[in-house]
This record gives sequence, structure tokens and C-alpha cells, in this order.
Amino acid sequence: DKVREERIKYLTDERNLKAVTVCFTDLEGRLHMLDYDKKFLLKSADNLTFDGSSIRGFSQQSESDLRLNIDWGSFYWLPSDIFGPGKVLVFSEVLERDGSPYHADMRGQLKRITEALYQKDGTVFHAAPEVEGFLFKGRDAERHYHETGKFDFISTGGYYHSLPGDPLRAFIDKAAEAQRAMGFQNEKDHPEVAPSQFEMNFSYSEALISADQIQLYKLLCRQVAAQMDTTASFLPKPVTGVNGNGMHMNMSLSKNNKNLFYDKAGQDNLSPMGWEFIDRLLTNANDICLVLNSSVNAYRRLDPHYEAPNQIKASANNRGAMVRIPYGNERSARVECRSVAPDANPYLVLYSLLRTGLEGPQPQEDAESKRSRTRFLPDNIFDAIRLFKGSSFIANILGENVQSKFAELKTASAERCPKQLGARVKTSEIQFH
Ligand code: GLU
Ligand code: MG
Ligand code: MG
Repeated sequence: DKVREERIKYLTDERNLKAVTVCFTDLEGRLHMLDYDKKFLLKSADNLTFDGSSIRGFSQQSESDLRLNIDWGSFYWLPSDIFGPGKVLVFSEVLERDGSPYHADMRGQLKRITEALYQKDGTVFHAAPEVEGFLFKGRDAERHYHETGKFDFISTGGYYHSLPGDPLRAFIDKAAEAQRAMGFQNEKDHPEVAPSQFEMNFSYSEALISADQIQLYKLLCRQVAAQMDTTASFLPKPVTGVNGNGMHMNMSLSKNNKNLFYDKAGQDNLSPMGWEFIDRLLTNANDICLVLNSSVNAYRRLDPHYEAPNQIKASANNRGAMVRIPYGNERSARVECRSVAPDANPYLVLYSLLRTGLEGPQPQEDAESKRSRTRFLPDNIFDAIRLFKGSSFIANILGENVQSKFAELKTASAERCPKQLGARVKTSEIQFH
């Protein structure tokens, strides 16, 4: 198509470009990258293969030859001071050898479902993530944690008020500059509530773009941090006694540029469609909890004393509720899901939130009473795995294959987690994605 042609021409003409980083994400959310020499890629773009068998959770031996189909619509310049000279980055879809979609490639699934929604009646799904992170001393702080049992803050500066010369501020400035160079639409950035914690917001986009940008944002933060001999960590709760890292997901649907979640006359300025979306998320909150909080460590974060939710509830201001309704106008009315951790797979998260919000089963019950009754999210990963595995709705939207594979991977990683005490896990689980 046209975009593809334009990009290929650009690659051909731009003599300073030497390599193309082609990336995809595994089922657990890790970003994988292969660098292709530009000349080779221009010749072989239609026949890129890779060995999927060594990627955890991605492929069995029998599926070891998988193919990559570049999505030329996703095209990012990589600033050379951070990523090295002469590179651009593209995302790709993962295909079976025969060209059919690979079932565990959630980016492909998200792409197909959002395209189908648009084809059907012009509805577009938008998302804006709020990804929080910590900056710790030392290049390899997450591994170092295993030996010493602690993380060292780089800064004590707090919410909104660190000095311009503060190392955390210097990191944020550098990361923001990299984001701009890559074409993100930056909005605001600031030190967060916990010491050494940061948050950088970029504009809402179509869900697929937002998910790609979450992956790139975490990548560039890690890279900038490493250059400063520090570590950017997106563990949900690395340090006990202070706030953890959330990845609040703001979502809305639009049609013909009209925000379908906005209604001036509705409760909290939200339309009946917005409320229905919320009700479906709440009704099926247990089923999708593992998708949103998929590590042992994520369950340590879900504590309302630290502004993280544990209640299956919607509220305009209670931060212990998993859904918040931010005050919105015509343009900004949205639903914010707060029970999402930054180490989750963003494609799987957005795919599941969309399908749940639109199709999640609703038992006959008066919505008002459902909203006011207090129910709690699972407080440990083993309960979440059990609820996920037992859900026919999950089987329906993800397929039994992905359902069992994901549950299996999560059980294995929970069991690997050291010093685990029964179902209540007291220790932090280290995951590098
Ligand atoms: N850090 C909090 C969390 O874990 C969120 C703080 C905020 O509301 O921005 O979700
Ligand atoms: Mg925040
Ligand atoms: Mg928020």
C-alpha cells in the first residue's frame, strides 16, 4: 500500500540510515528486537523469518519458524545519541509459516480487533497510559536487588518540586527529549509521589499506537537511565512503604470525531455507553485481573494506602477504586482503569479491556446496586490465575490456547519467585519487561 511504498522510498533515499530495528512482543510483554541491515531488509522485507522456539511462552519446537510481517504504519526514528547512529524502528506482526496470524501475538490481535471495530461502524478506540517508574542508583539495580535486598533512590525530591539540577529531573529531561525526537506527542512530566519516582505523559492515540509507545517509552527510559549509570524500573512495587508504579489506562471510544463517552447530562459527564463500559469492566474484573496484574510483585502494589486500588468499584475520587472517572469535557471525557501495572503486556491489556468493556457478560442485576456493593480484587497472583483459568469469557476472547499458555507461564514465574510464603507472596519478583 501507499504507506509502505513511502517508507521504502524513504529508507532507500536516506543514505545515513544503515539498519532497521524490527520488533515484536511476546505473550508476557517483553519487547524483542532484531536489527536488519537496510540493504538486506529492502530485498527481503516480504520474507523475514525467525526462530520462535527460544522465546519463552511464544512457541513450541514445532512452531520454531515464524515469520515477521512489518507494519509500515508504525515507523519511529531512533535518536542516535541514545540508540546509536543510522537506525529506524518498526513494529511487526508475527505470522505462522503459512502466513496465518500467530495466536500468541497480541499486537496482531489488538490490531485486528480495532480494525474490525472501525470497519463495522467507524468506532475508534483511544487510550492514554500513565506509566510510572522509579530511577535507582547503579546500572543493574534490579539484578543487584537479588544480592543486597535493596534499591537505592537517586533522589529524594518529591511530587512536582525537585530542583532543576536534581538527577531525577536531569533524567526526565533527557528522556523527554528522546521522546520528542521519536515523534511522541509529549504532554507533561514530573517527579511522582514516592522518592525517585517519575511519570511522563504523552498524548492519547489509537490503542495500537499507545501500546507501541508504552513499549518504546519503557525502552528509551531504560536506555537513558543506563547512560547515566542508573536503572529505570517498572516493577509495580519495588520498595515497601512508599507508592508503587501504576500504569493507569485512560480509555474512550469515538465515532466521526465525536467522543462517545461524553454526555453533559450523564452522571459524572459520562454517557450511558461510558457507564456500560465501566459496568462490564467491574462485572468481569476478576476474570481479567491477571492480564492487568500479571506478576507476583503487582499484587503488592494494590493497596489503597498507597493510592493503588484494591476495590472492584468506580469512583470519581476514591483512589482505592479500580475505575476512576476523571472530570472530563467533550474532548477529554474518559474512563480510567487504575488497576493496571506497568509490567503487564500492553497489547494484551488493551485488547482485553476493549473486549470486556464492549462484550463482557452482564448478569441481570440493577447497575446501581452493583456499583455500590464493595468487592475486592484478588490480593495474590495465585487467586488471579485461578480466576483467569476458570473464566469462560477469557476462553472466549483469548482462545483456550492463549488462556492456558498464559496461566502456565504465570504459574511458573510465581513458583520461581524466591522466599514465597504459601499463597501470600512477601517478596518482590523481578521481571525484565
Ligand atoms: N502510584 C500510584 C499507583 O500505584 C498512582 C498515583 C497517581 O494517582 O498518580 O497507582
Ligand atoms: Mg501518577
Ligand atoms: Mg491517573
